[in-house]
Amino acid sequence: MKQLKTIQHKVASPFVNMGAIKLRQPLPSEGVENVDPFLLLHHYGPYAISEFNNPFDLGAHPHRGFEPITLLFKGEQLHRDSLGNEMVVKAGDVQWTTAGRGIIHAEAPTKEFVKKGGDLEGIQLWLNLPAKHKMMTPKYQHLEAANIPRVSSEDSKVELHIIAGNQQEKQGPITTQTSVNVFTVYADKDGEMKVELPETHQSLLYLLEGAIVVNGTEVLEKGADQMVVFNQDGNTITLKAKEKSTILIVSGQPIKEKVTQYGPYVMNTQTEILEAMRDFQQGKMGYLY
Ligand code: MN
Repeated sequence: MKQLKTIQHKVASPFVNMGAIKLRQPLPSEGVENVDPFLLLHHYGPYAISEFNNPFDLGAHPHRGFEPITLLFKGEQLHRDSLGNEMVVKAGDVQWTTAGRGIIHAEAPTKEFVKKGGDLEGIQLWLNLPAKHKMMTPKYQHLEAANIPRVSSEDSKVELHIIAGNQQEKQGPITTQTSVNVFTVYADKDGEMKVELPETHQSLLYLLEGAIVVNGTEVLEKGADQMVVFNQDGNTITLKAKEKSTILIVSGQPIKEKVTQYGPYVMNTQTEILEAMRDFQQGKMGYLY
């Protein structure tokens, strides 16, 4: 039986500073510490990138203990990491990094894109790993837009891209360590869709662009409230687009372990954080040229 999930929080997407970079951070934000297993959601851009304005250049930095995921919506980035990967990420593509015991990576708009100029916009999502997988061998999954399975709404006005997990019997290509759904949704004006999410999952919906009504009552609009977090009490959510909209929907089985987070590391204890800092200093997370 289909039952709507009830809404736990409805929140805005305030700007924060990450170094010199200005971006939106709905998670964590006031009233929403995390949505276990999701720890952080950054929405960057759209930035008008040019040779005179290139604010989103993330130099080499380490990670351990979780999965940093980038979903690119506009523009073109170069991903490089200590596993030897060097990939151009285009609009609609996904880079899914499993940091495991340690990886060093860098991302920035490609030189060609900076020279040509254009909008850059993306999402960075931090997905926790359970204690037993925190020190797993690091890996990188690159998913091109053309290889992402899609399903449509009955009115054909909404298209949902399955990056990880499943919807309407279709399976996303990304391999995950726990049960996780990551969907991007592109809706035309007046389009309506039902999305099924397991009752046991914690889940959220984030609006990048446009305006929508969630579950028939909750209005989200760019610049006002942009995210809803659902309770673990139903198996369906609905959305209706008031205008052309872009949406992210994620859900996951909660890990329910103590999280100790410091900078680019997400572990279970302080001791493990100190070990991560030491291992990075000693070069144990590899090297990025
Ligand atoms: Mn990173």
